Amino acid sequence: MLDHAARIALIPGDGAGPEVMAEAVPLLDWARARGRRLEVERLPYGADHYLATGETLPEAAYAALRDGCDAILFGAVGDPRVPDGRHAEEILLRLRQGLELMVNFRPCRPLPGLQREGLWLEVYRENTEGAYCLQGSTEPGRAVDLAVHTEPAVRRLLEAAFARARARSCPLTLAHKANVLKHGHGLWVRVFQELCAAHPGVTARGMHADALLCALVQDPSPFGVIAADNYLGDLISDLTAAFAGGMGTAPSLSWAPHRPFRCAVLAEPVHGSAPDIAGKGLANPVGMILSTALLFRHLGWESEALAVEAAVAAAMASGARTRDLGGSLSTSDMGTAIRGHLPG
Ligand code: ATP
Repeated sequence: MLDHAARIALIPGDGAGPEVMAEAVPLLDWARARGRRLEVERLPYGADHYLATGETLPEAAYAALRDGCDAILFGAVGDPRVPDGRHAEEILLRLRQGLELMVNFRPCRPLPGLQREGLWLEVYRENTEGAYCLQGSTEPGRAVDLAVHTEPAVRRLLEAAFARARARSCPLTLAHKANVLKHGHGLWVRVFQELCAAHPGVTARGMHADALLCALVQDPSPFGVIAADNYLGDLISDLTAAFAGGMGTAPSLSWAPHRPFRCAVLAEPVHGSAPDIAGKGLANPVGMILSTALLFRHLGWESEALAVEAAVAAAMASGARTRDLGGSLSTSDMGTAIRGHLPG
């Protein structure tokens, strides 16, 4: 729990990002009205700002965020007007990598009324390196993407995953392809085996990622916590999002366990800016709202986190649905339906 008012930076971003963020902001006001101390700063970074000014995330703004904020609530970035995705890379990847937000937590708990109710999977995805380290080259007839894995990042991610599996008394599975990615995934397996020896109470095993995907599709129920590198974690967590209703419902939280800077946590929905549905009121705000609950929990505001999660469950149980879940509510109607179940 912070000993000062939490300073939370809001970055709505692009496309569906601002639409779903608009449904998270009232939750901050609600938490404040219940006595939680927080200050909010809204930042303009995204495609509109980039196209108007040429700025992605200016160095001074990044430093102010890093040293002057406690947390970031993030919508989504990505815009067809910036086809190379440069601004998205320099905003979101810069925040993840610069702030060393190595642990990306993506829970999958299907909501009431959806298929697979009762399933409880959690993906721990390394968030700063691997194949997404943006190093490589393109030459005529040849293209190279480097995947760099370092022991501190691998160890921090796996330690968080082991701690979670122990707390939940559930199995832990490492997804890897060390049979072919002998160097990078060899490192993952070595550190994993070391931690298995240090945590004899955790039922842990490694699985080749292709076999794991097959097993998940056949029956996800035996799995609990799944740990993976950046690339595999991205793929596996989109699959687990599908188990819980699809991209619109999946939340995530990223944090730096070693707290190198004041700003050590970022909450964002798993989905991207969804340009195909943006601006039409079609985006489901549940992923964003549940990400806000994860942020509340991380800040030590457990009662608010539980109340938001319960409000989402109650709204779903009462039949509130956006179009992606077969209903007809708009983004803002869904947000209103959820807030209607919050305690005062
Ligand atoms: P990124 O690479 O940033 O993760 P992406 O290109 O994988 O993004 P998304 O923007 O996540 O793609 O969209 C993938 C699909 O999911 C699209 O069909 C989109 O309409 C749908 N989708 C994404 N977010 C939502 C949402 N909040 N509600 C409903 N559908 C969504």
